Amino acid sequence: MSKKKVLIVGAGFGGLFTALDLAGDADVTLVSDSDHFCFRPLLYEYLSGEVEAWHIAPDYKELFGDEINFVRGTVETVDFAKQTAKVSTREDLLNYDALVLAVGGTTNFWNVTGAEEFALPFRGIEDADDLRNRMTRALDEIPPLLAPQDVREKLTFAVVGGGASGVELATKMSDLLYDAFERRGLKGEPRVLIYEMSDRIVPGMGSEARAYVEKSLLEAHVEFYLQTKVLEVKPHGIVSEYDGKHLEIETVATVWTAGVKVNPLIETLDLPKAEDGLILVNQTLQVKNFENIFALGDIAKLEEVAPILTGTAQLANQESVLLADNIRAFLNGKKLKTKQFEELGEALSLGTHNAALLVGGNVISGAIARNARFALYTSRLPTWHHRIKVGASWFFGGTTPRPLQPLGIS
Ligand SMILES: Cc1cc2nc3c(=O)[nH]c(=O)nc-3n(C[C@H](O)[C@H](O)[C@H](O)COP(=O)(O)OP(=O)(O)OC[C@H]3O[C@@H](n4cnc5c(N)ncnc54)[C@H](O)[C@@H]3O)c2cc1C
Repeated sequence: MSKKKVLIVGAGFGGLFTALDLAGDADVTLVSDSDHFCFRPLLYEYLSGEVEAWHIAPDYKELFGDEINFVRGTVETVDFAKQTAKVSTREDLLNYDALVLAVGGTTNFWNVTGAEEFALPFRGIEDADDLRNRMTRALDEIPPLLAPQDVREKLTFAVVGGGASGVELATKMSDLLYDAFERRGLKGEPRVLIYEMSDRIVPGMGSEARAYVEKSLLEAHVEFYLQTKVLEVKPHGIVSEYDGKHLEIETVATVWTAGVKVNPLIETLDLPKAEDGLILVNQTLQVKNFENIFALGDIAKLEEVAPILTGTAQLANQESVLLADNIRAFLNGKKLKTKQFEELGEALSLGTHNAALLVGGNVISGAIARNARFALYTSRLPTWHHRIKVGASWFFGGTTPRPLQPLGIS
């Protein structure tokens, strides 16, 4: 008897892990607009060269064998009545018995003037490459005898958003730039600024964690502006407002970490949604009123989930386990289950030699936290085979940052 068809759209933390779990139990087709996965929690380490692209962004074809049909392309439309989907790269339609929507989010620039055009997103390998190149080029262009105050102006970077992502990125950038200054014998100092609209840094975290993050930002020479709204991003500048006053600063680049919005495909689908555009799902991860359509990860709204877990890989990962079980149950006519998703704690990177583990209100920091973070993330990479290869590479090869060498020198 032929196996039932499961079509999974999107191969990130939700889609890929569901597909790996289901492989062999159904006729699984996984569609992605990218040829590689991206383990985003370690994207900062990719920027600093502590890890390599193959560690955190393996090609899908290396992750699974014949048990998953991989289709590279963008899903453009879905016909729920006919149970088919149209992919950009194929003439024929893909059909399904059960559909999984796992397309994640995209950067939300909140319609700030110039932001979409001039700010850099930070969501994938290409974004990190782009930023690293900008940092290196800016360093290369500094004349050796330039006065320190002019150096500072020519090496200012802005990070918009003072959440975990903005803090992790800014500390990594600052450490890399300071290291490059020392290696190149440059006078003066680089500048990394964080712009945060609320009155505190890492607004979602507890006070002990925040105190440690603030201390780490000071140690990394990162300046942060609170209650400061970004009004405009220019090709080489940023305009902000604090207490009614406008301030414009020259920058090499502005990186945008301040928000995620739902993937454009979801906007086009006629499914029950919450006010913020997320798909409403039941505790079984079935889309409300659709028994054979499931959604998870950043596009799914599950009312019972703690707000701190919303929009995280750890939630998408936990959901994928339940979802794979429920699809097996659905295809076999069995009862679907529900599950309480747990907050597993957070692991923050705070520069090239520091990190913090935040578990149940406690903070563990320093080199031990940095190593524990690597160990933890090794265990969360997709497939045993990949974990072993990467773990061995980190154990034997180390995770030393790669300095910002002048372009042309490897
Ligand atoms: C820099 C950064 C660091 C982060 N760090 C952490 C962290 O430390 N801990 C944590 O818990 N969370 C972290 N997150 C959040 C985490 O990455 C997301 O919550 C998680 O990726 C959501 O999983 P998902 O499967 O919903 O979507 P994604 O992982 O975004 O996967 C969606 C996939 O769908 C593909 N896709 C999109 N549209 C289509 C289409 N139309 N057709 C086909 N394919 C499509 C995309 O290319 C992508 O591969 C971080 C996010 C960022 C940006």
